[in-house]
Amino acid sequence: MFLLIHVLTGGLIGEYFHSIIFVILFSLLSHFFLDMIPHWDGGDFDRKLFNKTGMAFVGKISIILTVIDTIIGIFLIFFLYKEFHSRFVLAGAFAAMIPDIAKFGYLTKLKHNRHYINYLKFDSRIQKEANWKFGLVIQIAITLLLLIMLF
Ligand SMILES: [Zn+2]
Repeated sequence: MFLLIHVLTGGLIGEYFHSIIFVILFSLLSHFFLDMIPHWDGGDFDRKLFNKTGMAFVGKISIILTVIDTIIGIFLIFFLYKEFHSRFVLAGAFAAMIPDIAKFGYLTKLKHNRHYINYLKFDSRIQKEANWKFGLVIQIAITLLLLIMLF
C-alpha cells in the first residue's frame, strides 16, 4: 500500500484519539491491516522468492518507486503537521510509516538478523496484491475517503 495512505490513516487516528500511546499503537497496527486490503504498488520485487528464501532481489523500478513513495510520505507528514499543529496527528502519521521505513534496514547489517528477516517475511506475506487496475482503483478510493474524513 502506498505510504501516502498509511500516513493519512495515522494522521486520522491522531486527529480522533488523544492518547499518544494509543495513537502510536493504533497507527502501527493500521499499517498491517491496510496492507491486507488488495492493492497494487507497482515495481519488480520478487515477492515469491523473498517469502521462500528471505533474500530480496529488488529491481530498479521498485527502488525508484520506493524512494518516490518515501519522499511523498515524508512531505505529507510535514504538511499534516502544518495543517493540524497536533502532536497526535504527527505521531500517528509517523508511526503508520514505520513498518515500511523499517524495510530500509535490509540495506544494513540487519539483513543478517534472523528476527529482522522474519519480520520482513511476515510483512511480505500479509500483502494482498491485486492487478494494477483494481489495485490502483482501491488505493485511490481509500485515499479520497481518508482525505474527506481528515479535512
Ligand atoms: Zn507495508
